[in-house]
Amino acid sequence: MKPSGRLDPPAWMGAAAVGALFASLGRAGIAARFVGGCVRNTVLGREVDDIDVAVDKPPDAVMHALAASRLKCVPTGLKHGTVTAIVEGGRFELTTLRRDVETDGRRATVAFTDDWLEDASRRDFTFNALYADLDGTLYDPFNGRSDLAAGRVRFIGDADTRITEDRLRVLRFFRFHAWYGRPPLDGPGFDACRRNAGALGSLSGERVAKELLRLLEALAPADALAAMAESGALDHWLPEYAGVARLRALIGREDKPDPLRRLASVLAAGTDATALGKRLKLSTQQALRLDVMLAAKPALDVAGGAKAWRAGIHHLGNTLYADRLLLEIDAPGDWQAALALARSWTPPELPVSGGDVLALGLAPGPRVGAVIAAIERWWIDGDFSADRTACLAHLEHLVRAR
Ligand code: ATP
Ligand code: MG
Repeated sequence: MKPSGRLDPPAWMGAAAVGALFASLGRAGIAARFVGGCVRNTVLGREVDDIDVAVDKPPDAVMHALAASRLKCVPTGLKHGTVTAIVEGGRFELTTLRRDVETDGRRATVAFTDDWLEDASRRDFTFNALYADLDGTLYDPFNGRSDLAAGRVRFIGDADTRITEDRLRVLRFFRFHAWYGRPPLDGPGFDACRRNAGALGSLSGERVAKELLRLLEALAPADALAAMAESGALDHWLPEYAGVARLRALIGREDKPDPLRRLASVLAAGTDATALGKRLKLSTQQALRLDVMLAAKPALDVAGGAKAWRAGIHHLGNTLYADRLLLEIDAPGDWQAALALARSWTPPELPVSGGDVLALGLAPGPRVGAVIAAIERWWIDGDFSADRTACLAHLEHLVRAR
């Protein structure tokens, strides 16, 4: 693989930990290059969070080299040739150069190689096959930089063949378009995605969810998602998809991307969050949040003013109330003021408890719960203004009345 230019080495490349890592590998005769997202984002001048490094020797040699330099290393994916080095608190994924031996549309069987071009050829898109040496020497075997500059997500090699090897690449095509693309979508890529969209059912829910949520995290993902739907790629995994109109409105309201909330905005009314959560293997917490975001009840009374907002915040909790508020695109009322309140006001605790009911002589049992529920309604209705003394007085009144 021939060099094709230079990067102005960014700060992260010059970090002491990076130097120590490369020196350790170098002493063992292992050649290492940065690869993938970290190089691509550096070319673009965007932020880099994960540092992936490709190495030309097998993982046991890499672990040996790191151990000899007393650098910490965790065998995070030996089968795929990956070990994670932890140097001065920073994590680096070191993956041995690979070539595909066999593919079944879901997972590839890989063999290690020391051929950089072979490793590049099995990657998905031209701009994801950029490599850089520690000194900034750049390798761009498929002209990824010109595609990046043009906002074109282009498959390496024949798009249909590459998708048949790994169907997840259909989702990745739209995900990378959301992050790095500009209209129009790459024609041959889009057509190949459409031809293969019917075969995505064999993928795993986890992998699909990861790509989908990552797509939704992009600054402006609506066009990419709409194109994905048009290709048929959402049919199997997200039959609840109902268009991007609410997503666009949500993006105008939110202050930072929240992929799960964005997902909620593209789902049809009546979507079963539990079924969706199972299908996409969401965590229990994610599924519960989705459930509340999609619930029709309680309807938010945005037009009702501060008192109604406080009641809603108390009921749903600050975070979920804010979620619901951002999603209620058509509700009349000052949603910005309601949101500010959801971010600043802490709902008080009900100043009385079951013990106070028992102290008034009521026997333990379901009536205690009913009385507590009643006083809570009264307390909320009074806009949380009743203090403990007032609550106790009303509690006595309630108990007597029964
Ligand atoms: P991000 O910043 O979003 O993480 P990334 O480029 O690092 O972007 P990853 O999904 O972390 O994306 O993958 C790392 C690299 O591995 C990619 O740049 C690509 O070269 C390669 N890759 C990952 N998944 C596939 C795949 N399914 N098919 C081919 N190559 C892949
Ligand atoms: Mg990555």
